[in-house]
Amino acid sequence: MSQVGDISEFELIRLLTEDVTPDAHTIVGIGDDCSVYEIAKNRYVLATCDMLIEGVHFSRKTASPFSVGSKAIACSLSDIAAMGGRPLFALVSIGLPSATPEEYVTDLYIGIRSVCRDYGIVLAGGDTVMSPDKLVIDVSMIGDSPRGKFVLRSGAKAGDAIAVTGFLGDSAAGLDLLEGARTEPDTERRSELVEAHLLPEPRIEQGQYLAENFKVHSMIDISDGFAGDLGHICKQSKLGARIWADKIPISDTLAEFCRGARVDPLDYALSGGEDYELLFTLSTSELERLTLEWPEEFDVPLFHIGEMDKAIDGILLLSEDGAERPLEAGSFEHFGSAGVR
Ligand code: ADP
Ligand code: MG
Repeated sequence: MSQVGDISEFELIRLLTEDVTPDAHTIVGIGDDCSVYEIAKNRYVLATCDMLIEGVHFSRKTASPFSVGSKAIACSLSDIAAMGGRPLFALVSIGLPSATPEEYVTDLYIGIRSVCRDYGIVLAGGDTVMSPDKLVIDVSMIGDSPRGKFVLRSGAKAGDAIAVTGFLGDSAAGLDLLEGARTEPDTERRSELVEAHLLPEPRIEQGQYLAENFKVHSMIDISDGFAGDLGHICKQSKLGARIWADKIPISDTLAEFCRGARVDPLDYALSGGEDYELLFTLSTSELERLTLEWPEEFDVPLFHIGEMDKAIDGILLLSEDGAERPLEAGSFEHFGSAGVR
């Protein structure tokens, strides 16, 4: 009999949900960052859930309980941000091995409550159970779309500009440092990269601002890795994309770290994952207007990195020397050949 490890996460989800038929109120079902349900005329509820498992998504050896708790909330907030939504409340379920120190769980909850407080959301419930072996955290986040302007992955149009908030790749480099796969002698540089991995900042304000003030055609948050996540926009919008390698935003910190480590920062930026930045598309004229207004609103920078193109199948990466190569979705998958992580 075949096993779930033989197929990819996305194939498995498709298999499990293929005969699910959404009703008229389910505006967005399976396949976007959040589900969208119309509870009354023009009143939309957004919902998302994410499960983190010790040894797969975090390690007690490398992450403090505070950071595990705060990141669990931040990841779900990021899915609300990717729709341009407003987060309202969270339900948090935990599965605990009986030998878990009480202090670990109280610190985990200091992290959870601190991010809830920062973003003005209520911790409204959850569930607490014993787990035989590994610690499990599952966060459900409920939000809404106050002006009914939520953004899907599927709306990109040919000729759209592709833009991203913030720098890419710091988080993946931070993970390599935490796991000891690489070293960084400069302590400040090291802690910046590690912090990008452990304490990501969901772009809630930015997502809402984009959805409410600009005609953003499609949006996703970068959780699995830039190439894979842009791949979702391409696939669901039935378009291809051209990305300009020299426009990919690399922070000075990542550039310096990569010089020392003799690695290409683009590898981290394009397939690293867990940046929790927003990746979105809009017409070039809307982007022009946005580029003028953005710095008045936010410190986090905005970058124009490519264009949607219906003549392209998948994603092409254009180098400075004019060479183009396909960008594979090196997106992180939990099942199948990519291995369980
Ligand atoms: P994200 O990376 O934004 O958290 P996922 O890749 O985990 O999203 O999930 C992709 C889509 O599949 C989402 O719409 C999610 O709600 C849906 N999904 C994932 N697992 C299941 C499941 N076991 N049953 C039903 N829907 C699922
Ligand atoms: Mg997402």
